[in-house]
Parts: sequence; C-alpha cells; structure tokens
Amino acid sequence: MKLRINALKEGSQTIEMTLTRSDLAITDDNFIHPILASLNIYKGSHQITVNGQAKTDVVLQCDRCLEPFDYHLDVTFQSILSPIKPSDPKTDEDIIPLTPKTDEVDLSPFAHDALIIGLPMKNLCSETCRGICPGCGINLNQGKCICKKTETDDRWKPLENLLTNTPEE
Ligand SMILES: [Zn+2]
Ligand SMILES: [Zn+2]
Repeated sequence: MKLRINALKEGSQTIEMTLTRSDLAITDDNFIHPILASLNIYKGSHQITVNGQAKTDVVLQCDRCLEPFDYHLDVTFQSILSPIKPSDPKTDEDIIPLTPKTDEVDLSPFAHDALIIGLPMKNLCSETCRGICPGCGINLNQGKCICKKTETDDRWKPLENLLTNTPEE
C-alpha cells in the first residue's frame, strides 16, 4: 500500500483501494476476503496526515463450538509524514520521516498492525454460543446432549473416573 508523494495535491483527498492479505504482508490465512482500505489524506505545507481505515471479513473458528464464522473487522490507523530530523529523540512511531528525496511511502505496516490488533482475543461465533459437550461431543447450538443416557450406564464408570482425573479447561 504505497503512497506516491508527488501524486498528492495540496489539501484533502481520499484514496480507496482493495487489497489482499499479501499486499499487507499478513501471514494469518484467516484473512481470505479482500481488504477494503480507504485513506483520508491531508497534505499541508509541512506535513501530510493520513487517516486510514481498513475493513474486511475474517473467517475464524469458534473457541467453544469449533465452527467457522465470519468476523467483521473495521479498524483505523493514522500516520503522519513529516520532515523531521533523524536525531530527534521524540520520533513517534506513527511519524514517517520525509526528506526531499522521498517520492513514495509504504503505509502497509500501519494497516497490517491495525488489522492484527483488531482481531478478537477470544473467538466466539456468538456471545451465547453453548459450545460442545465434552461428554458426547455434540454441538449444543445444534442439538441436545445425549450424555444422560450413558451416565447411568455402568460400563462407562471406569472411563468417568479417568475423565475426572483430567484437568478441566
Ligand atoms: Zn460457537
Ligand atoms: Zn453430552
């Protein structure tokens, strides 16, 4: 996602583009859909401010029921292109140094980081997902547990003892 400095006009402008995960060096293969990026750029006399937005749907696997589900990611990022001295100790991460020779800057790392940070800590297909029964393995969103039958079955007793010794998640 490269921005050509000389192609920008003074003032504000918006650039929109459709990217793939490889354009942004995203290695997570849950990013199977195109990524829509929109850059709101303001070019002033000293610096260029970029307010970016990136949107896509990622396909995640639910931590509880293990079913795949779509998760809508909509993230923002900002970067400032500014002619600062390289020795400036206050150099901010979001500032890209501009020199008179700079004709192109790559904004991919900003979009990349925003998208990765935007991923949920917990993957849940829904807040109310009931998960999988550890006993019968049934997806409880789709069907009823059939464990009750086997609980009274003595043949399962040795196995039950085994199961109680395994630490629960
Ligand atoms: Zn689920
Ligand atoms: Zn069950």
